[in-house]
Amino acid sequence: MKDLRLDKFLTEMGKGSRSQVKTYISKGRVTVNGEIIKRPEYKISPENDIVNLEGEKVNYSQWEYYMLNKPAGCVSATEDKHFPTVVSFIEDAVRKDLFPVGRLDKDTEGLLLITNDGALAHELLSPKKHVAKTYYARIEGKVTAEDVTAFRKGLDIGEKNLTKPAELVILKSDSESEIEVTITEGKYHQIKRMFEKTGKKVIYLKRLSMGSLKLDETLATGAYRALTKSELQALK
Ligand code: URA
Repeated sequence: MKDLRLDKFLTEMGKGSRSQVKTYISKGRVTVNGEIIKRPEYKISPENDIVNLEGEKVNYSQWEYYMLNKPAGCVSATEDKHFPTVVSFIEDAVRKDLFPVGRLDKDTEGLLLITNDGALAHELLSPKKHVAKTYYARIEGKVTAEDVTAFRKGLDIGEKNLTKPAELVILKSDSESEIEVTITEGKYHQIKRMFEKTGKKVIYLKRLSMGSLKLDETLATGAYRALTKSELQALK
């Protein structure tokens, strides 16, 4: 099936802006199945046609899925004037339409899925799906059994409803505590606000998992890799 404009295909595969690739095409630098095509609107079948730009094959990639171990200091966005974006870490990306599935705060680290699959993002982010997200955190203050109960019951963090039951596991309880917490919602600054409500402060936050997807702990902070087939199958 011939279904994608040649200029759109080249732009999506990261070969330049729409106007740049139009120039390449009109200058005869692009071939489709060996034939020079000078019309940007020429329709190609990305799976079957062989497109070359200056003699080099342009590989087709429809969907891309990456796991990033997000470092602190970057923003969960596709563009930003002041800070690096999480998408800018994916140096091998072919496609230019990748976005993060959900947001982690600028100072939060850990698992972030980056893809161009809007349907999967919707499945994972829809409040109706209650996808579980587990975080590790260091907390200023002593986390107690009462906090575990309060997290389970739900907290009033100024939203319409109490937070949904969250599982809080205490790893270390001292003047500085360590915990793991699992929530099934994604309200703005949710974990920080839940602890604030119990009079404590999150001093470090890292996401460990989202649904079936677990952070590959061999990934250094700031490193990424493509999802494996089985990780992807389990998510869908
Ligand atoms: N909760 C927060 O407070 N921050 C995050 O980045 C994620 C969950």
